[in-house]
This record gives sequence, structure tokens and C-alpha cells, in this order.
Amino acid sequence: MNKLYVVGIGPGNRENMTFSAVNALKDSDIIIGYNTYIDLIKDLIGGKQVVSNGMRKEVDRCKEAIELASKGNTVSVVSSGDAGVYGMAGLILEIISKEYSMSDFDVQIIPGVTAGNSSAAILGAPLMHDYVTISLSDWLTKWETIENRIHCAGKGDFIVVLYNPKSKSRTEYINKTQEILLQYKSPDTPVGIVRSAFREDQSVQISTLGELSNCDVDMFSTVIIGNSKTYINGKYIITPRGYSI
Ligand code: SAH
Repeated sequence: MNKLYVVGIGPGNRENMTFSAVNALKDSDIIIGYNTYIDLIKDLIGGKQVVSNGMRKEVDRCKEAIELASKGNTVSVVSSGDAGVYGMAGLILEIISKEYSMSDFDVQIIPGVTAGNSSAAILGAPLMHDYVTISLSDWLTKWETIENRIHCAGKGDFIVVLYNPKSKSRTEYINKTQEILLQYKSPDTPVGIVRSAFREDQSVQISTLGELSNCDVDMFSTVIIGNSKTYINGKYIITPRGYSI
């Protein structure tokens, strides 16, 4: 059976990687992934064959992984965070569905700690109630769809976790998101921004929705915007679950 692992390696440090992720990498002959992620797990790779390439080469990378697995290699495709959250898991299964026979492959998706959860832990407990994750990248999704989802999240008083909040070519979307959410949420709504969670250059900002456009946000950041009950105490953002205390 052709064996393929799709491994979520967590936010970047070893302590937040699962044992199954480490075991999958150990069990593999070949490790495939985006350069930055390969760097994060360098010490686990040892002498194994590595196939790495740049961003936006996801389809090529997955096709190559499947091809190598179909030749009898055990292959790991690595994603940061969780491979099933804006990661490689879906693409691997989609390509096999379209171009191969699923019964020829043993695909194991290894869960990882996604950026929303690792960032939330650094900020305290902002995700204690219903939340949505929205990626602000319009590379694979139309901006109109994204915009509509931001409205829905605002209407529903959801806590909002923004992935891909800003890139060099998409500088305005975070400000548009702020504008839309201000139609539903107070300007005092707590906002936490975690950059490079659990990596050497981690940084944290605690602010409010009204001030979001003045914060530093980039493609390495995750932005968490509270609901109407969320508050800040010191370095923590807390969303009450509703317990009487
Ligand atoms: N599969 C990944 C998400 C990939 S999308 C996961 O589950 O975490 C890429 C976006 O994830 C980045 O733009 C950023 O918003 C977020 N992200 C990934 N790693 C992060 C980290 N260590 N710290 C903060 N945000 C991170």
C-alpha cells in the first residue's frame, strides 16, 4: 500500500508538535514541504530525502508527493499548524480522488495545533465561546465571498480568528474587515494579534477593534477579535463561557 502522511507540525516549536507528527516523520523516507516549514523541523529530518519549494507551488508539491508514494516510498507532506486548516490535507485527497484510485493509498492525516489555537493560548482564553476562522487571502477565494462571511460573523456576534490577514499585495483587506466588523461590534472589542506564535521571534499585541488599523499585522500574524462579552485583564484576553462565579 502506498503510504502518505499529511503532517500538521503545529506552530513551530517542538513542544507543540504531536508525538504522532514526530513518528510520521520518523517513519517516512521522503519529506516534502514549503522551505520555511522544512527549516522548522530540520533536526527531525536527519539524512532523509527532502523535497522543498516555495509558496504557491502547492499543487506541484502534492502531485510530486503522491507520485513518489505511488512508487513505494513512504512520504510525509508537512503543513504548519494543522494540515486540514488552509493546509495540504484537502489538496492531497482531492488530487488522489481525481487522478488516482483512493484504494491504492493509505493516507493518514496527522492533526496539529492550528495557529488560531496556539495564538489563543498565548493571549489567554479568547476562544471560550463560538468562533469562526476566516482567511483574508483572496488567492483561492473571491473577496465578495470573504466579505460576506465577515458580515455573517459580525451579525452572529462570533469571535473572529483571521488567518492570512495581510500580505504585501493585500494591505487593505484588514482595514476593510475592521470597517465591516465595526458595523456590528463595539470599537472597544478586544483584539489580540500574535505574530510567529511559539517561534523565536514571537510577538504579541493587545488592542481593540477601533485601533486595529493602527496595529502591526503581516502574513505571519493571526488576529483574534472578541465577541460582545470579551474583556482584557492585564496581558490576557478573556471570553466568558457564561458560568456564574
Ligand atoms: N495550516 C496553518 C494555516 C496556514 S494559513 C495552521 O493550521 O495554522 C497561513 C496563516 O496561518 C498565516 O498567514 C497566519 O495567519 C497563520 N499562522 C501560521 N503559523 C502561525 C504562527 N506560528 N503564528 C501566528 N500565525 C500563524
